[in-house]
Amino acid sequence: MFIIAGLSQAGDAASGVSVSFMESKAVQILDGKSCSKQIRREISDQVAHLRAAGKRVPHLAAILVGDDGASETYVANKVRDCDEVGFDSTVLRLDATTSEAELLARVAELNADESIDGFIVQVPLPGHIDEQKVTLAIDTAKDVDGFGPENVGLMCLGLPSFVTATPNGIMELLARYRIETEGRHCVVAGRSNIVGTPLSILLSRNSRPGNCTVSIAHSRTRDLKALCASADILIAAIGRPGFITSDMVREGAVVIDVGTTRVADAGRPSGFRLAGDVDFDAVAPKCSWITPVPGGVGPMTRASLLQNTLKAYRRAQGENDV
Ligand code: NAP
Repeated sequence: MFIIAGLSQAGDAASGVSVSFMESKAVQILDGKSCSKQIRREISDQVAHLRAAGKRVPHLAAILVGDDGASETYVANKVRDCDEVGFDSTVLRLDATTSEAELLARVAELNADESIDGFIVQVPLPGHIDEQKVTLAIDTAKDVDGFGPENVGLMCLGLPSFVTATPNGIMELLARYRIETEGRHCVVAGRSNIVGTPLSILLSRNSRPGNCTVSIAHSRTRDLKALCASADILIAAIGRPGFITSDMVREGAVVIDVGTTRVADAGRPSGFRLAGDVDFDAVAPKCSWITPVPGGVGPMTRASLLQNTLKAYRRAQGENDV
């Protein structure tokens, strides 16, 4: 057993003093669930003001191609999140046999539709559709997933952009818990375009959170164990359940677990559970702060999409940079 200290509400953390993990005595949970709840409350308040002023509310659309079970769940969650904060939402369901040209035509329609502030095309797409072509077709101003080259480029330059939801959610979590990052060695394990690579850039920027010295690791990294064990902040975005074991984590480290792999679990109605990349029970006692799975990065990712949609709305209303 280990002690979980200060299961603080995000609100408390946000108003609290800066936390130095070097000084922590017991592991504390970076509670993405409560932090995201606070963000949704903040967004709801803004939407309520818009309604009270007689203005239209932000509108998010999602294109769902085919009937992949996980994608159905992700899109349903996005609709639920929109409902909760008072956004309008629209789901365009397309058959799995939809051609690439037909999908691109729907993307063009959404680009032109002034009632839609932002939209996402849920991935993965069926194999006959080129995902990159679809990403490139989305108007930068509506690319609330932040996957497009213009938003990625703007983010790299530190200019206003839509930052990809998961890295944005992690930065928000670090910020709201006031985790000290300056001068820390951060190891990001995983170099995907949607998580590891943008996160490594955000954390190395001259910003707060930021100013980390970042190492980015991948499947060709030599002696990953020693590299991870040297990290003050370790971010695992690999997609292999329990990959990060306690011997890969130094005492007092901050550990962020991005991994969410569905593993079979006959004891659950769904038949699966979500497993992180970190062997939580073995690793947590060594950490100053750690995210759980579920309830860590996942809810923050969902909240980030709402934040980006609100940002797109405000920009569409002519507000300069939000
Ligand atoms: P991805 O595209 O699946 O790529 C995995 C990365 O891990 C690659 O860079 C790969 O290296 C690296 N890797 C694989 N095996 C490795 C090993 N043995 N040692 C070191 N590195 C290794 O990554 P992703 O899309 O970012 O997804 C990663 C995980 O995060 C998945 O579980 C995904 O479901 C989860 N995820 C969660 C959220 C959330 O909101 N919680 C959001 C997005 C993703 P190479 O580049 O060399 O192949």
